[in-house]
Amino acid sequence: MGGRDATMVLLDENGIRCDGRKVDEPRRIMIRAGGLKNADGSAYIEFGDNKILVGVFGPRDVHPKHMSDTDTGILRVRYHMEPFSVGERKNPAPSRREIEISKVIKEALEPAVMLDKFPRTAVDVFIEVLQADGGTRCAALTAASVALADAGIPMRDMVAAIAAGKVADTVILDVNNEEDQAGQADMPIGYMPSLKKITLLQLDGVLTPEEYKKCVDVGVKGCELVYELQKKALHDKYFGKGDD
Ligand code: UDP
Repeated sequence: MGGRDATMVLLDENGIRCDGRKVDEPRRIMIRAGGLKNADGSAYIEFGDNKILVGVFGPRDVHPKHMSDTDTGILRVRYHMEPFSVGERKNPAPSRREIEISKVIKEALEPAVMLDKFPRTAVDVFIEVLQADGGTRCAALTAASVALADAGIPMRDMVAAIAAGKVADTVILDVNNEEDQAGQADMPIGYMPSLKKITLLQLDGVLTPEEYKKCVDVGVKGCELVYELQKKALHDKYFGKGDD
């Protein structure tokens, strides 16, 4: 947060945002299940201008062996941004931010994945951000859930994710890069819609208690929309497009 471009109009007098959206309107979202033949499961997502590919491998043997758990399987997540994914070239080595996002996504997926069914094994989730435009952790978490389901990993539910936020003292759905940089708050939410459980909730910025509640409500409703697209992506792959 912090008003990088003070001249930018984040919300005009008609309630229209800097990219033409209404306050409660998500960006265009396209999810495809599958696509990587060497992965056990995969997914590709376009979430506005974010473009992210996810490959899932496993359950498989853990190396080094001492990292395995005799009681349960383990989930390993690597979130990585391509050097060309952002305007200013990103160093390909893992940054502190990528390590944090990998951990956050892993912890958001763990309640959904039935790891206890695969003791001593690991499920690896590789996330490649090809193009970033704000909200990559939510888009990546959404695609990772589809890729895990595509790999046939038993799950309690899928995690759908989107960010709520605040610009010009107004609560908005699906924060883009400009809104993230110049707005007042960004709240990524991951939610399991069938189980009605939140597995990711972060907040960058300041909200009143009322705004906080509104962001959670708006974010959960957004996750329910994303969930329909996740299910459709799996349905399209396994039962054919347009076959409802
Ligand atoms: N970003 C960037 N360079 C970087 C890291 C991030 O330009 O090295 C941009 C990118 O568009 C990203 C946005 O900043 O989506 C917001 O990053 P944040 O850390 O808030 O995570 P995200 O919103 O992507 O989950």
